[in-house]
Amino acid sequence: MEEARPIPGVDYPRTFSEMDDWFQTEARCRDYIRRLCWPDGFVCERCKATGEPWLAARGVFRCKVCKGSTSLTAGTVFQDTHKPLRLWFLAMWFTTSQKNGVSALGLQRVLGLGSYETAWTWLHKLRRAMVRPGRDRLTGEIEVDETYVGGHEEGKRGREIEKKSIVVVAAEKNVQAIGRIRLKRIKDVSAESLLDFIREVVEPGSTIHTDGWRGYAGLPDAGYKHRTTVISRGDEQAHEVMPRVHKVAALLKRWLLGTLQGGVQHRHLDYYFDEFTFRFNRRRSKTRGLLFYRLAQQAVDSAPAPYRSIVGGKSRPCA
Ligand SMILES: [Zn+2]
Repeated sequence: MEEARPIPGVDYPRTFSEMDDWFQTEARCRDYIRRLCWPDGFVCERCKATGEPWLAARGVFRCKVCKGSTSLTAGTVFQDTHKPLRLWFLAMWFTTSQKNGVSALGLQRVLGLGSYETAWTWLHKLRRAMVRPGRDRLTGEIEVDETYVGGHEEGKRGREIEKKSIVVVAAEKNVQAIGRIRLKRIKDVSAESLLDFIREVVEPGSTIHTDGWRGYAGLPDAGYKHRTTVISRGDEQAHEVMPRVHKVAALLKRWLLGTLQGGVQHRHLDYYFDEFTFRFNRRRSKTRGLLFYRLAQQAVDSAPAPYRSIVGGKSRPCA
C-alpha cells in the first residue's frame, strides 16, 4: 500500500477524497502524526537522541540509545483515545472543511458516533487545540471595544437563564478590511481588565483606537499609542466609528446562534471564542486543507484535555 506521503511543500489533503485516501488506515494516521511531531525526524523524549527508533508497539517508539519509550500520542489531543485515529482525522476534517464549523450533533451523525457526549467532548478537545500558546500579538493599528454576548447558565430546576458576558474584541486595521482578531471574556470593563487584555494580545508600540471610555486612559503609560473617537449623542453611531470590531461582534453573535443554535454555556464561551478566532483569522486561506493542517499540528502540540476536566472544569479565569 502506498504511504500517506507529503506533496512537496503541501503536507495536507486538499479535498475530502484525498483526506479519505491519506488516512485510510491507522498506520497512515500514525505516520502523519509522527511527521507532525517530528518534522525533522524522531527525537527521543528522554535523551534527545536522534535517529530511527525501534517500534516497540503500535505508536510506541523505543530509543536505540537510552532504550526509553516515547508514545506517539502522549501529550496530544489523541492521548488515551479508544477510538480509531481515522475518526479523529475525519472529525478534524469536518470541523475545518465547513466554513462555520460543525455542531456536536452534526459531528455525531456524520461520524456515526454512538454518543453525543463523545462528539461534544471531541469538539471541545479540538477547540483547545485551536489556539497556539504564545501566538503572535497583533500589531499596527487596532480597534478595541467591548460587546455583550448571551450565554446560558443553568438556573433553578435545570431551567436555563439568559445572562450576558462582556467580551472585549481587538481587530487589526488592514486598510479598509479587518486583519487578525483576538477576543476575550472579561469580568468587567475596568482599566485593569481592559489593559490586561491589550497587553496580552497587542504588541507594545501599536496604536489602539478606542472610544472615550476612561478604562482605556492608561494606554499611553502602558506603552501604546492611543487614538480615541468620542461618540456623542446624535453624532456618528458606534458601528461607524469602530466598524471592524462591530463587524466581528455581529459575526460572532450570528455564529453562536446559527452553528451552535445558541446552546453555549457561559463557562465554555472562551473556547468557542478560540474556535471563532481560529476560523476568522484563516478565513482567506486558499484551501480548507490548510486549516485542517494547522489544527492537526496544534492538536499534537496541545496538552490533552480529559472529559472530566472539560465537563467539571471551571472556565478559564477572566482577565
Ligand atoms: Zn533516548
